[in-house]
Amino acid sequence: MERLGNGKAGIEAGRLAAADYEANFADLHPRLDRHEALVESDRCYFCYDAPCMTACPTSIDIPLFIRQIQTGNPIGSAKTIFDQNILGGMCARVCPTETLCEQACVRNTAEDKPVEIGKLQRYSTDIAMEQGRQFYSRKAPTGKTIAVVGAGPAGLAAAHRLAMHGHSVTILEAREKAGGLNEYGIATYKAVDDFAAREVDYVTAIGGIEIVNGQALGRDFSLSDLSAKYDAVFLGMGLAGVNGLGIEGEALVGVEDAVDFIAALRQAKDKSVLPVGRRVVVLGGGMTAIDAAIQSKLLGAEEVTICYRRGKENMNASPYEQDLATANGVIIRHWLAPKSIIDKDGKVAGIEVEYTAIRDGKLIGTGETGIIAADQIFKAIGQTFSASGLGALQFEKGKIVVDPEGRTSIEGVWAGGDCIGTGEDLTVSAVAQGRDAAESIAKALAAAAQPATAVA
Ligand SMILES: Cc1cc2nc3c(=O)[nH]c(=O)nc-3n(C[C@H](O)[C@H](O)[C@H](O)COP(=O)(O)OP(=O)(O)OC[C@H]3O[C@@H](n4cnc5c(N)ncnc54)[C@H](O)[C@@H]3O)c2cc1C
Ligand code: SF4
Repeated sequence: MERLGNGKAGIEAGRLAAADYEANFADLHPRLDRHEALVESDRCYFCYDAPCMTACPTSIDIPLFIRQIQTGNPIGSAKTIFDQNILGGMCARVCPTETLCEQACVRNTAEDKPVEIGKLQRYSTDIAMEQGRQFYSRKAPTGKTIAVVGAGPAGLAAAHRLAMHGHSVTILEAREKAGGLNEYGIATYKAVDDFAAREVDYVTAIGGIEIVNGQALGRDFSLSDLSAKYDAVFLGMGLAGVNGLGIEGEALVGVEDAVDFIAALRQAKDKSVLPVGRRVVVLGGGMTAIDAAIQSKLLGAEEVTICYRRGKENMNASPYEQDLATANGVIIRHWLAPKSIIDKDGKVAGIEVEYTAIRDGKLIGTGETGIIAADQIFKAIGQTFSASGLGALQFEKGKIVVDPEGRTSIEGVWAGGDCIGTGEDLTVSAVAQGRDAAESIAKALAAAAQPATAVA
């Protein structure tokens, strides 16, 4: 149910009654109970060619883990998931299943609905993690050391797989906490009860992984420093920069980066201290825009409008995410581009927007403009790669170039996650790329350790 704030103009904290914050930011999809999990798992046909599995970037054996739930074996089911995806707990909460496994499910028809794979995955992974069940141990130490830059999903997945192979991993992380966007980016109601931090503990419990916080590549060390000190390097720095609007008024009080707002939300134990506008405009069409808009509404903003410069079908946010926003009272307006931000005594008073259209295959402004009243504007028009100290590393369209194994243009350096140019920018893709790069690193180190064969 939509809860309205106190209606005061400006950017204010404490727009809602204390109890409303708790209700608004509660778990979006609480875990299924045993009976619900059994009923839902019974809907799976255990397809021999399982299209759901092909659609999963980490290739989890979905029919097998669902069958294990059905036979009353959630722990075995969790192992099936973790074998492919050690961050299966977070992915169960945040994966856009409606565009991945559940979209591919054979039961996803007009007359039926897909098996709720995400909810079933959460059921078994939660049980295993709560019981502290660890399924993997390290192989005998190899004596090899690997530096992982960034403790996000890509870095954590790579570190875990490398530790399994017996290598010693040091994760160098710029921020105060590990987890990457799982800790600082994912919407609050998708990862409640400090789940991101608990998952980091679960992943690193294998041993052989040290996380050093407050260490940034480009500031505290360079890539060549790492190459000199470690046997291999994995870069999983994500996209730490944000795109600017480049329009008049961008520096006014009340214009903020959506990712900063979301990070502050994730870190605030008490949401009532977070200020939010009465009228909020969010610029963008992806998951960040949707999350900033919904969470502004949940903090008590009276009117929240997303402005996106193209059509509904072009939005990066899935139809499910868009529906979630509108169900929370967010207005989504298409074919509008920001033109200038209106200043009143150094603060935002509104935004001038221009209608857009496609002409000859190009997006153009039509010249017709309008004004939307606002006291807070969030920019959510994309993240960018931002790091220095990378030497001759090859980039294309602002992302690191890698081969299918995750090898970069510099020997001994691999990369994965949002900072590379392949795959979608999703948690599950970052996990898959981190895991696969780790396998490639392990293979390369094993090959290098083989004695040279004498040539006759
Ligand atoms: C607001 C928002 C909401 C999202 N919601 C979803 C969702 O619901 N579902 C989904 O699947 N995906 C979602 N995503 C995308 C998903 O979070 C990312 O695809 C995923 O986190 C990428 O993982 P990563 O490890 O590559 O990068 P990140 O998670 O960004 O982690 C990179 C880590 O590297 C660190 N780092 C950066 N630069 C340096 C440096 N120079 N030196 C050392 N460390 C550094 C960062 O501090 C960070 O900890 C969302 C993204 C955003 C921004
Ligand atoms: S496609 Fe659907 S029904 Fe078939 S195995 Fe996957 S989840 Fe089960």
